[in-house]
Amino acid sequence: MKDQVSTDTLAAQPRYTDSSDIVNFINGELAASRSERKQDVFNPSTGEVARKVVLSTAEDLNAAVAAAKAAAPAWADTPPVRRARIMNRFLALMAEHTDEMAAMISAEHGKVFTDAQGEIARGMDVVEFACGIPQLLKGDYTEQIANGIDNWTMRQPLGVVAGITPFNFPVMVPCWMFPMAIASGNAFILKPSERDPSASLLMARLLKEAGLPDGVFSVVQGDKVVVDAILEHEDIAAVSFVGSTPIAQYIYERGAHFGKRVQALGGAKNHMIVMPDCDIERTVDALVGAAYGSAGERCMAISVAVLVGSAGEKILPLLIERTKTLKIKDGMHLDAEMGPVVTKEALERIENYIAIGVEQGAELLVDGRGFKAEGHENGFYTGGTLFDKVTPEMRIYKEEIFGPVLACVHVNDLGEAVDLVNAHEFGNGVSCFTSDGHTAREFARRIQVGMVGVNVPIPVPMAWHGFGGWKRSLFGDTHAYGEEGVRFYTKQKSIMQRWPENIEKGNEFVMPTHG
Ligand code: NAD
Repeated sequence: MKDQVSTDTLAAQPRYTDSSDIVNFINGELAASRSERKQDVFNPSTGEVARKVVLSTAEDLNAAVAAAKAAAPAWADTPPVRRARIMNRFLALMAEHTDEMAAMISAEHGKVFTDAQGEIARGMDVVEFACGIPQLLKGDYTEQIANGIDNWTMRQPLGVVAGITPFNFPVMVPCWMFPMAIASGNAFILKPSERDPSASLLMARLLKEAGLPDGVFSVVQGDKVVVDAILEHEDIAAVSFVGSTPIAQYIYERGAHFGKRVQALGGAKNHMIVMPDCDIERTVDALVGAAYGSAGERCMAISVAVLVGSAGEKILPLLIERTKTLKIKDGMHLDAEMGPVVTKEALERIENYIAIGVEQGAELLVDGRGFKAEGHENGFYTGGTLFDKVTPEMRIYKEEIFGPVLACVHVNDLGEAVDLVNAHEFGNGVSCFTSDGHTAREFARRIQVGMVGVNVPIPVPMAWHGFGGWKRSLFGDTHAYGEEGVRFYTKQKSIMQRWPENIEKGNEFVMPTHG
């Protein structure tokens, strides 16, 4: 992505500096909230409050639902190819605004600028996939299922649907949802994370500029108050959620209670199995990027390295060296490998987990606590942390830390490694680094995880394959985006048809058959 920007450092460039309150976007325009409640949005690199976001009320949500409900029928009636063309224009606008959006993400999330560009590019992949909606919505047809009768199926939109998203991908994760939902003919309401909400309004503006009718895409900012209002609202047919496991489970159960279709993607503890026959240097590069990239705040970040047999002694010296020399700085420096974490609370949680790891007997090889980035001493920075001799009973093994902390566990062989991964409560992503085809095949077949990489550290599926973990990393039946996304946002209708010439006279009391 670096060829998209012209300078080696963007630190001296104008920053994203809007300080106005972040409001809602309803019926095609910015809308103030009825709420007095606001929450600070920080720049994690400086530690300062950059903006405030409104924490909306149920009445704000009701206004968004009313606008969406009014817009939905005409939008559902719009031919798919015209919906696709609007998506196409939106795709072009996202490309045009990538750098502005990336700077916005970096300023509120803290991830490095080039990583933010990558997040946007992966979001755009889904928009591009949604441009194929005319093909994706094609139904099926059987001629002559009985004498003179044909039967076909079609998929129709649900109406008004909502998405609730986490802080760690403020553009990519919403893009897992709304392009599929909107292209399928629904009106969509986004409830972004309250920690980095600015990008949601930029996307709303670009969708409008692309020609999306008012009411088809709305943004309602807020916290639990709005989430609960979404779950309870009788005019919202389906809810997509991405976030932590306890909240995912809550959304799934509560949404189902109110009769909604729900997909709720949760947290993770992703392992990388390192076999002794792997290419050591390339594996260390991959591991360091996957563990510390985006400060470990990716649901597909590697947080456990499972070192098999002699892999440990080969890999650890290099791993220690690379962890100690990570380039940790403000994300607008193009050579930054890692920026700050999102909030002071996140920093405290992560450093508290490091203390717990030490207390429970793990060996602390590199301690990232107390790291200060030059010139940003009040920022929410922590260094890369590396633990060895971690065991499955320890909290730093069992629980999602969601920060730049890598735990190394030692096992004797592939079988033990697979058993270890399969016993974990999460099953989002996993990876195995090896040069042996049989090992790779056995690993891929036996592992109980939704997204699997062989010599690929972060196997986030491309837009047309769909994203989803197993076990407590996903509640619901369908994965995000891909063809599963189309299925989630549409309902199947089966139609049987015959014409009078083929209707036999007389009452039919017997269950009809194909005879
Ligand atoms: P989070 O669960 O705290 O928040 C996610 C969303 O839920 C936000 O919009 C938030 O406002 C809302 N929310 C928070 N608390 C709530 C409550 N008590 N009731 C109702 N709604 C509530 O998650 P986060 O910290 O923003 O994001 C990080 C988490 O998301 C990690 O656990 C990470 O693994 C997970 N994640 C998972 C995936 C995936 O695809 N499986 C992708 C990205 C992030």
